[in-house]
Amino acid sequence: MPFAITQTCCADATCVSVCPVNCIHPTPDEPDFGSTDMLYVDPRSCIDCGACADACPVDAILPISSLTGPEQAYAEINASWFDTVTPGSTDRAPAPGPRPDRPTFHDWDRPRFDRVLPADFPRLSVAVVGSGPSGMYAVEDLLLHTDADITVFERLQVPDGLVRFGVAPDHPATKQVAHNFARLRKHARVTVRFGVEVGRDVSPEQLAADHDAVIHAVGAHAEKRLGVPGEELPGSISATRFVAWYNGHPDVPADSFHLDAERVVVIGNGNVALDVARILVSDPDVLADTSIASHALTELRSSRVREVVVLGRRGPEHAAYTRPEAMALTHLPSAELVVDDHDPRVGEAIDTAGPRDHASVLAGVRREAVDWSRQPAAGRRIVLRFHSSPWP
Ligand SMILES: Cc1cc2nc3c(=O)[nH]c(=O)nc-3n(C[C@H](O)[C@H](O)[C@H](O)COP(=O)(O)OP(=O)(O)OC[C@H]3O[C@@H](n4cnc5c(N)ncnc54)[C@H](O)[C@@H]3O)c2cc1C
Ligand code: SF4
Ligand code: SF4
Repeated sequence: MPFAITQTCCADATCVSVCPVNCIHPTPDEPDFGSTDMLYVDPRSCIDCGACADACPVDAILPISSLTGPEQAYAEINASWFDTVTPGSTDRAPAPGPRPDRPTFHDWDRPRFDRVLPADFPRLSVAVVGSGPSGMYAVEDLLLHTDADITVFERLQVPDGLVRFGVAPDHPATKQVAHNFARLRKHARVTVRFGVEVGRDVSPEQLAADHDAVIHAVGAHAEKRLGVPGEELPGSISATRFVAWYNGHPDVPADSFHLDAERVVVIGNGNVALDVARILVSDPDVLADTSIASHALTELRSSRVREVVVLGRRGPEHAAYTRPEAMALTHLPSAELVVDDHDPRVGEAIDTAGPRDHASVLAGVRREAVDWSRQPAAGRRIVLRFHSSPWP
């Protein structure tokens, strides 16, 4: 029985290189790799060896025979990606040949260092700033391809960056990638210095002087402002801060948020927006078994939030979320998913979507023209509202 890739896939392509029959696509040298929601196993050529499942850092690959409940849909999702192009579809079967503007996976040049080293120079010394995925994948490559001694500088007292403080607590499989990072941190050539902020405790110039190379992998932690009137008012907050709060980030005080409103509006409809919406309507008893911060769980237990409206500027065919994450919302036990069809383009896009088009994931979802002047309906729900933006 072949294997299939499921919801938690983060498209890092680790599985591609271990598949003995090259049946996982798109590969990093194929055109769709940069834009695909996830990778797919071709069931016609999979020989059921399980190597990909062993390699996957987030346990996204499972034998089709073991899929249960909503996961069973992934058998068809994987298989259908390899079908030929259908009219109206945006997905394609893998195109042959490498993409000219993208290097082949891991086929990089050896790292180059500007400094000319004396023949008796003991070993390269490299500083990596930041212990999130970028920093730790850099560490992995340095361990594999150089003999460098590596020092990781992390401003917090705990590692893993947004894997710990961004990825939603009810996505434990995704957070599992941190086990790989922990293994790398134990390597004899790796030293980690927690609580050292580059720019505050040590200058970039000093780091450069002390090491042969410095890799800055500090992430993108600044909030993005919308630039709309009222953005600064109480109750208007950035997802960055809210996500950090429920994940227990030390920079965000425990009493930062009080969930005393009945309706929450999330601007933007990427996967982070879906994370926020899902956490707000999830059953706290289910969240209690996750890594969610205890202060957030306490607040969620007394939350008055009943409706989360997720706004998208464009239609469902252009939604920023990935199909697996939207599919998961259609099976939430604690809340209903509703599509606000105030705009006729919404229903039309869903009704005319091909089976592999982005909008098709909403095909069975109930539609309603939501009246925002009324209190939210009874029960908890997430409303996807398209063709809406906060700009005047
Ligand atoms: C809410 C949210 C949910 C997400 N969910 C998923 C998901 O489900 N699946 C998925 O694949 N991806 C997800 N992502 C994306 C993923 O978390 C990021 O792509 C990834 O963490 C980026 O890694 P990074 O190493 O570049 O940055 P980060 O993870 O931000 O790591 C940067 C590290 O650098 C440290 N640092 C910063 N400045 C300094 C300094 N001056 N000195 C020393 N250290 C410093 C930080 O403390 C941090 O530890 C999510 C992101 C967010 C925000
Ligand atoms: S290794 Fe796992 S997460 Fe990475 S691309 Fe393959 S299935 Fe997706
Ligand atoms: S089970 Fe083996 S053959 Fe099938 S996709 Fe995974 S690595 Fe490839």
